[in-house]
Amino acid sequence: MFRRPRERAAPRATNSDMNADASAQILTLTEAGLYCPAGGFHIDPLRPVDRAVVTHGHADHARPGHRAVLATGETLDIMVARYGETCFGTGQALAYGAPLKVGDTTVTLHPAGHILGSAQVAIAYRGARAVVSGDYKTRPDPTCAAYEPVACDVFVSEATFGLPVFRHPPPQQEIGKLLRSLAQFPERTHLVGAYPLGKAQRVIRLLRDAGYDAPIFLHGAMGTLTQLYERHGVALGDLRPLEAADKSVAARGGVVVCPPSATTDRWSRRFVDPVVAFASGWMRVRARARQRGVELPLVISDHVDWTELTAAVEATGCRQLWVTHGQEDALVHWAQQARGLAARPLRLLGYAEDGEPEGAA
Ligand SMILES: [Zn+2]
Ligand SMILES: [Zn+2]
Repeated sequence: MFRRPRERAAPRATNSDMNADASAQILTLTEAGLYCPAGGFHIDPLRPVDRAVVTHGHADHARPGHRAVLATGETLDIMVARYGETCFGTGQALAYGAPLKVGDTTVTLHPAGHILGSAQVAIAYRGARAVVSGDYKTRPDPTCAAYEPVACDVFVSEATFGLPVFRHPPPQQEIGKLLRSLAQFPERTHLVGAYPLGKAQRVIRLLRDAGYDAPIFLHGAMGTLTQLYERHGVALGDLRPLEAADKSVAARGGVVVCPPSATTDRWSRRFVDPVVAFASGWMRVRARARQRGVELPLVISDHVDWTELTAAVEATGCRQLWVTHGQEDALVHWAQQARGLAARPLRLLGYAEDGEPEGAA
């Protein structure tokens, strides 16, 4: 579907207006979200479309019902695992860095460092280039390919943690808190709330890298995606489904990884006096941890913090910055005032609020 031949000639442009014309043809905003007129495709569309390029598998970016989907192989696998084989008409996998002609554009995918398979979408057209980041983080994460800065004219950035107050601590430091609590309360089960796609696998990997090699028990909602990570080569050590495990073992301490919502629902009552932990960038906000009854907040985020966000924008060398879900205004203000960039908030509804709960952040 994405390889169909060109149907019309590209409009002619003179040298002087080439860049302005090219920018408008590369990206525009429609009701369904970001659209590339020159290529004839949407990016992370909010409703079913003919041709979608999908940055990653989180529910607010990867929605079912498109006729054709272009994404990394990992993202296509994640979509099928979550929504079933019929969630799109045709799926075409594109490897990181491999160029593909789409309409009059050339599309490449570049690692976004957010979760397994996550990609930034670079669109080249007539000497101009736009990059749509999707969600991203720039610090190393052994469960996915490392973020790669891509030079561009127009950069579309998320701003989930786009306020100067957000500074994520090193994740190893947060995992250290969990390990100290395990040592201090060996008889109490540690319920670690973590979003089932990405965060859960990263927390497990961080525990392993810190030397924790005991079995880790998984809530039933964790199995499919965790196995998918393992199939894609992410080693996670000794994992056991909680339902099949000897409950008396699981209840006598150790780590149980579960969706964030499970720590407050009926399911959690089977544990006697558990330590409730929650891994999310939002745990930086003390009130959120208190509201959810979280005893052990772990500030582990799959998004850039303010320092990383502004550094990432600068590294692209972009002249135009479009800001999407999150704290849009602060980043727009910074881009205009501190960097002299043309910047605009996109105010797209539908990202993060409904599809992807705060646990994914
Ligand atoms: Zn995401
Ligand atoms: Zn998102």
